[in-house]
Amino acid sequence: MVTQIPDQKAIVIGSGIGGMTAAITLAKFGYRVTLAEKNPLAGGLMRGYTRRGFDCEVGIHYLGALGPGQPLHRIFEFLGILPGISLEPLGAGGVTDRYYLDDFVFDLPAGLEAFAEHLRAAFPSEQKQITEVLEIVNLSAARLSSLDVLSGRSMTFDLKKDFHPVNGFLKEINCSSRLRQVLSVITASVGVPPDKCPLYLWSTALASYLLSSWRISGSGARMAEICAERFRELGGTIITGEEAVKLKLADKSVKGVTFKSGRELQAPLVVAAVHPKIALALIPEGSCLPEYRRRIQALEETPGVVCLQAGIPESDHGPVPYNIYNLRVENEDLSDASFIQLKRTGKPDWNILTVIRRSDFQQWKQWENTFSGHRDGEYEAAKNNEARQLLEESRKILGPCENARVLDVFTPLTLRDLASSPEGSAYGIMRSVKQKFRTAALHRTPIKGFHVVGQSVMAPGILGTSLGAIRTLMPVIGPEILDQWRALFGPKE
Ligand SMILES: Cc1cc2nc3c(=O)[nH]c(=O)nc-3n(C[C@H](O)[C@H](O)[C@H](O)COP(=O)(O)OP(=O)(O)OC[C@H]3O[C@@H](n4cnc5c(N)ncnc54)[C@H](O)[C@@H]3O)c2cc1C
Repeated sequence: MVTQIPDQKAIVIGSGIGGMTAAITLAKFGYRVTLAEKNPLAGGLMRGYTRRGFDCEVGIHYLGALGPGQPLHRIFEFLGILPGISLEPLGAGGVTDRYYLDDFVFDLPAGLEAFAEHLRAAFPSEQKQITEVLEIVNLSAARLSSLDVLSGRSMTFDLKKDFHPVNGFLKEINCSSRLRQVLSVITASVGVPPDKCPLYLWSTALASYLLSSWRISGSGARMAEICAERFRELGGTIITGEEAVKLKLADKSVKGVTFKSGRELQAPLVVAAVHPKIALALIPEGSCLPEYRRRIQALEETPGVVCLQAGIPESDHGPVPYNIYNLRVENEDLSDASFIQLKRTGKPDWNILTVIRRSDFQQWKQWENTFSGHRDGEYEAAKNNEARQLLEESRKILGPCENARVLDVFTPLTLRDLASSPEGSAYGIMRSVKQKFRTAALHRTPIKGFHVVGQSVMAPGILGTSLGAIRTLMPVIGPEILDQWRALFGPKE
């Protein structure tokens, strides 16, 4: 069902999952959309890159809530991108994620019931605490599954409870430090440390992966292409290598976009699917209140990450059918937790190892003004040092992997340049307890016709970003989108 509303032009800036979702959604409802991307290839963080024939992922290692009827499944169905995406479920062997905490191992299973069982068996003396925790996670799973946010029902938050920091909550109900760590691991997937992560964000992220967890078979590049194909099929145009630099305005309304190349496009609707600070920079000086500018510029970022990509011959180690988190018991803020994934790649007899660990921008700042690809030998040496450490980290868990072949290391500087993410933040602006009010309406701007979507707007991750983009466009498109959503998926009272 395609509803033709306006014969109106729209420009979407940025072609990550946020931009693709926005562009496809607008095109579905009759807008004539141009999607502009500064990089040579569309796809943003979801695309990844290739090194020596290996597909290296950047921003999709696993996806939650993608089982039939589940929230991400419904969103992909709505966008019309589901048929092309090939997926493999995690947790088939009973484990989705394996957490190593020194000598203690906890397996995160697929499914809320299995999760309850595993927790109760691993922490027999903390049954009361676990009951309280499960109540919140189950509630979040139900709230997420209903997708109230897209079905026209209002979302209600209990400011006192939902925005309480998860670590504080777990301490208040007397969880042991080990249980707190196990429960907090998931905060790494939204880039907010447990003492700053609101209870609602933590429980929603955890619930989404417990509902079901998936890896895409093939690569993120394929997913980016599927989105691009779908968008073109709906009549959309993609222009790459075009960096938006300024909005064209008249009377505080958007009229179009000027690009670095000098190209200009006209449209009364512009959606910036980029970091809010990059979107802010598009607004000409003097066209918004200085307080608005200061408020956005002062927002705290999520930390950067460093990521090793290495080829591992099948003879050294086979693929691991779950994700691994390696944690230090003494490190409650999880700042040196590492995420390890060893999965099949397109290359016969080889698997690809990815190890990701938090890494602050400050550590890399000294090289910030050199161009990507031309950074000096010291930067390369620092990256090699990280590669050694991250490989060592994975060897503690996987064993020697003697013939590992380091393919690449990316740093916060890479993310800054690849995705225009200020300070190389991996998950955009931090949706912390402290910033709850300041992050509440990042999609809105003081410029008529100019909207912001992307991972900072509702929640990071493929689910949070695509959900946020559709939600932002609902009032722009009007009741037709809600009608279509309801016709497809309910709400089921
Ligand atoms: C290392 C890492 C691992 C992750 N792992 C997972 C995971 O396993 N599962 C999961 O769900 N999520 C994961 N995420 C998060 C997820 O990838 C992001 O939340 C999501 O991809 C963000 O999409 P986006 O559209 O907001 O931004 P992006 O994908 O960054 O897209 C923004 C696009 O805008 C373009 N752009 C910026 N400025 C301009 C301009 N001025 N003009 C034109 N174009 C511009 C950029 O080039 C980029 O292509 C991970 C993120 C990172 C960094």
